[in-house]
Amino acid sequence: MKTPTQTNTIDFDSAKLQRLGLGQPSPLATRSVTLQQLRQQLGQQLQTSLEPQRVLGLFFREVQRLVPLDALAYQHKPSDLRMEFGQRGHHVLSYNLSHEGEDLGELIFRRNQRFTDPEQQDLESVMSTLLFPVRNALLYRVATQSALRDPLTGTGNRIAMDQTLEREIDMSRRHMQPLSLLMLDIDHFKRINDTHGHGVGDEVLRTVAESIKQQLRNVDMVFRFGGEEFLILLSNTSREAAAMVGERLRYAAQVQDYFVAGTRIELTVSLGCATLLPGESAESLLRRVDSALYVAKREGRNRLAMAG
Ligand code: GH3
Ligand code: MG
Ligand code: MG
Repeated sequence: MKTPTQTNTIDFDSAKLQRLGLGQPSPLATRSVTLQQLRQQLGQQLQTSLEPQRVLGLFFREVQRLVPLDALAYQHKPSDLRMEFGQRGHHVLSYNLSHEGEDLGELIFRRNQRFTDPEQQDLESVMSTLLFPVRNALLYRVATQSALRDPLTGTGNRIAMDQTLEREIDMSRRHMQPLSLLMLDIDHFKRINDTHGHGVGDEVLRTVAESIKQQLRNVDMVFRFGGEEFLILLSNTSREAAAMVGERLRYAAQVQDYFVAGTRIELTVSLGCATLLPGESAESLLRRVDSALYVAKREGRNRLAMAG
């Protein structure tokens, strides 16, 4: 069956919204609030959070006092943000939100029952209460995201790693899926600094980080763990599959070209690999992957070792 979809664009600058805000109150008797009451209430409530998830969750809950919904989805592609509340419905109303030419994302209302014209008008009017809360939440997200990145390599920093590792361990337990970790360390990196200088060392670090990211589907799972060490989280990945990914990373680093003043230099990496055990803590898992890396170094470098 074809899903009926209507796509609209809401520009918060247009005078249209003001007009809609003063629109006729809907005659539907099932409502528990008037449009004006809801707009006023949301105007205050939505300012109480800077979390996109919370702002839109509140909006979804409260807007239903005026227009019942089955689901609400929101996505903002530039910041890789996507969320969904409720269950899917056949009828879809979709809005691209913008303000002064700035993309504020797409809002999708779903319901099994058709939306009436007055309901659609009410939704459009209530949506204006999202303007500043959504814009602020997006700005906040940009700010916190940069606080979670390593500026040199663009990979996640230690704070991001700690948060993500805890979350992934949790998910792994809940969904009974394996979680594996790779720890990658550049071989004899000190020599590069000593021979060519710190600036070249930085450039090599950036190149290695890029090489890792290119090999992985989810770049959000790569973290700079220490000076020249990276940690890679592989969700829903078994021990054997993780070993294969690790071997691919090792090979990619080896065949990658690193140039210093026009001359190619040799560079290899060593890796440790560990898979979460039942009931294991993040600290223990990190300890095991670190020990495996140590074994790879001891056995000659440019290789991968599995944790016991
Ligand atoms: P191994 O094969 O045993 O790993 O030897 P290694 O020389 O790579 O390891 P070691 O731990 O002895 O040295 C790591 C070096 O990484 C020392 C430090 O100066 C360098 N380093 C750490 N962070 C940075 C950075 O941000 N930039 C640069 N250029 N060098 C860094
Ligand atoms: Mg090293
Ligand atoms: Mg090291």
